[in-house]
Amino acid sequence: MNPSGGLLPPDDPRLADQARKWRSAYLHIPFCEEVCPYCDFAVVAGRDQLASRYGEALVAEIRSAPVWGPLDAVNFGGGTPSRMAPELLEKILQVLSSRLGLRKGAEVSLEANPEDWTLQKAESLVAAGFNRVSLGAQSFDAEVLSYLGRRHTPAQIVRAVTAARKAGFVSVNMDLIMGSPPESASSWTETLQRALENNPDHLSTYSLTVEPGTVLWKTVRAGASPPDSDRQAECWEEADRECARAGLVRYEVSNAARPGHPCRYNLSVWGQGEYLGFGNGAHSFRDGRRWENLRGVERYLDTVESGRSPNRRFESIDGWAAETERVLLGIRRRAGVRTGRAGGALWESPKGRELRRAGILGLHGDRLVVERPLLTDEVSRAILTLPPPDSACLG
Ligand code: SF4
Repeated sequence: MNPSGGLLPPDDPRLADQARKWRSAYLHIPFCEEVCPYCDFAVVAGRDQLASRYGEALVAEIRSAPVWGPLDAVNFGGGTPSRMAPELLEKILQVLSSRLGLRKGAEVSLEANPEDWTLQKAESLVAAGFNRVSLGAQSFDAEVLSYLGRRHTPAQIVRAVTAARKAGFVSVNMDLIMGSPPESASSWTETLQRALENNPDHLSTYSLTVEPGTVLWKTVRAGASPPDSDRQAECWEEADRECARAGLVRYEVSNAARPGHPCRYNLSVWGQGEYLGFGNGAHSFRDGRRWENLRGVERYLDTVESGRSPNRRFESIDGWAAETERVLLGIRRRAGVRTGRAGGALWESPKGRELRRAGILGLHGDRLVVERPLLTDEVSRAILTLPPPDSACLG
């Protein structure tokens, strides 16, 4: 059983289009041992004693969810879901499955850190119904891991992959972070090589970014070197080449997979599929509306435990906003996005013509495609500045 994609190549436009109909759930597990200096997610460190209370709050939130589903993908993210006891993760998954339903062959994924991933835990999670694990490997260079504030060693990454395979996970992803200041060109080459030697089904490569308010941001403001974007571009190009050589197909700017193993949850989000999020800071999108949950763990717990909804900031995504968002999300995929009204407006706009002349934007049949993925953000900015059409033209 492949959780995602069947036999279609990961970058197949038919797969990208199917994903719009998929329904997903995201479960946020906020616990981490320490907060990494670059992280701006809704996480807490040293609060594992709240885990069982938090698990019960998630269960309560799921039980009060609207009737909806069945789910094509479930993603436990965070934070560090692998810090939570497998029995608790199993209970949450069972309640989710009985409340919303899981489609046969659904992707059930969790994020895990190599240092707390054991064979016993991996086996328990496979028995509970998980079939995909995303390991936060980040680098095979101990100095880079230390700079990133990560607590695992390169050897622990290899052991974690082996344990996931032995336990029977169908899909194993590794996340890598490229272009941190202490990372040399040869260090990145070695990280890529060692990651690919471990035969991941999926590889995500992200550039280190400096997010406002993080420890890294404060350090850079105080004079430390920021990541070098030219160097990061070189890292990306090398990753693109090496993944292709290893048989992984890049299907989105930062993600490559073997056939049958693209991340169904991510494909659904990029395809503007609907999803429900549970837990502090989780986002949801359904029936043309987006909302988010309270971000603080304590406030989330108090709210759910007193029988109130943690949902906040409802926003309608319809008309032109929905159409531009469809193109913004879809353009990240190698399969591109059906042109439609916003894509057509972009193509004909002065900025669109400039992007076409520069070989950045292309048309493949009825699909708009970014030909130089490293410049996707430039295309996104052009989409965001498109003027809304005459309201009379909106369908
Ligand atoms: S382990 Fe992941 S989620 Fe936790 S602080 Fe580090 S980067 Fe953030």
